Amino acid sequence: PAVLALPVPPEEAAVGQESPVAAVGRMRQAAKARLAHPRRHRVEQLKGLRRMLDERSEEICAALKQDLGKSATEAMVTEVQVTRSEVEHALLHLTDWMEPESVKVPLALQPASAKIEHRPLGTVLIIAPWNYPVQLLLAPLVAALAGGNTVVLKPSEKAPASAELLARIIPEYLDPRSVSVVQGGAEVVTELLEQSFDHIFYTGGEKVGRIVYEAAAKQLIPVTLELGGKSPCVVTESRQWATVARRIAYGKFTNAGQTCVAPDYVLAVGAETQAALEKHLPQVIQEFYGSDPAASADYGRMISVEHAERLAGLLQDALDGGARLVSGGTVDVQGRYIEPTVLADVDPASELMSEEIFGPILPILRVETFEEAIEFITARPHPLAAYLFTDRHRYAKAFQERVTAGGMALDACLVQLALPTLPFGGVGASGMGNYHGRAGFETFTQARPVMTKTDQVDTLRMAYPPYGWMKRQA
Ligand code: NAD
Repeated sequence: PAVLALPVPPEEAAVGQESPVAAVGRMRQAAKARLAHPRRHRVEQLKGLRRMLDERSEEICAALKQDLGKSATEAMVTEVQVTRSEVEHALLHLTDWMEPESVKVPLALQPASAKIEHRPLGTVLIIAPWNYPVQLLLAPLVAALAGGNTVVLKPSEKAPASAELLARIIPEYLDPRSVSVVQGGAEVVTELLEQSFDHIFYTGGEKVGRIVYEAAAKQLIPVTLELGGKSPCVVTESRQWATVARRIAYGKFTNAGQTCVAPDYVLAVGAETQAALEKHLPQVIQEFYGSDPAASADYGRMISVEHAERLAGLLQDALDGGARLVSGGTVDVQGRYIEPTVLADVDPASELMSEEIFGPILPILRVETFEEAIEFITARPHPLAAYLFTDRHRYAKAFQERVTAGGMALDACLVQLALPTLPFGGVGASGMGNYHGRAGFETFTQARPVMTKTDQVDTLRMAYPPYGWMKRQA
């Protein structure tokens, strides 16, 4: 009955133009009516999302082409399919995840039963960035829906074609009474952060991450912060240089370097490694994108002229500071184009090495020993990802033991993200909390303990005062 009394969503909700206050109000009302709790509702929403990804993938790819120059194949693999496999995984495991877990009761407290129930949190806010505007809005949504929540989605205004498309098609496939898209930039986020939520899930840069964290603290709202950082990639030696170079180049130049888990820089251990990378990286870049990547349909663009300008500045600054151009270097700021670029002899104190690059510039820094590489990494804030290419088991073991990072991949880059069976998130400066698969379900639910103790026999009598008898016994 409470569900039946919910208001019909206004017309502006169908295009993401509802005001933040109105949208949150409606979502809170729906959460109170427990609209999104039933397993059936969750399954319907997840299936709706899957249908949306299947039926509207062409439009999604077209929007991503417009925003980031993404090729349709890359858009399908890194945005649509990654999200779709999250949906599939959630549909497959939802019943299991929702099942209360029975736990043991110690003898002294028997007879009784105890269980942990996974309860929806209520109404949650998901704030997404521009770099994977589809995946980073919808993959957290999968987890929030699986958890039985009502959801306010805030896509990034910096990827306008994707944001507008999603605002328009989401209400066609998902119940607009339990999912609402609010469009806009900083002012809209500011207004949203004044509303009351049961959880805020933010993906983006550290600066805004702090704003979100502070606003949430005022109302004691729990947060997940998916931030970035400089993800290192250590290379020691290899018998497969072409493969190593391909995997690093794939990690770096997919989405033209605008990937939160892209290898930010390479630490080459020793002169031979450095020479091998300098030889093979330019070759594989040519193999991927041809001799003129600007003409390649598979190579993306920067999100904006400002972002291209920032990267052009970083590149120039590095070159002025003595860095050597190994390959690339062509820049067309107005065309939002930065060629896949490899640099060597980069000053570790340069601007390029002090902020997350977030673009297709790959500095190779030479270190003499593996130990030096570890020290370089551990002297800096914890990265979102850490990569190691090595043939030595001893190094792989030491890397895992000594490096703290949100996630790790050995002899690969990026692909760890595609597994719904692995949690994804940062640690320290790269964020807090995680999602994907079961981890996402846990983020968007409360593990609530429930104990039931029969009152037919009062087995708790020993616990009641007066405690005089205890002293007499002692
Ligand atoms: P962005 O500019 O799109 O900002 C993210 C969100 O914050 C947007 O929805 C935006 O509207 C909002 N926002 C912007 N300014 C605001 C303000 N002053 N007050 C309140 N809200 C505001 O994206 P970005 O921050 O440029 O994203 C890039 C960063 O995100 C990189 O550092 C990258 O590493 C990180 N990132 C992390 C992950 C991850 O999963 N951990 C994924 C992608 C990107």
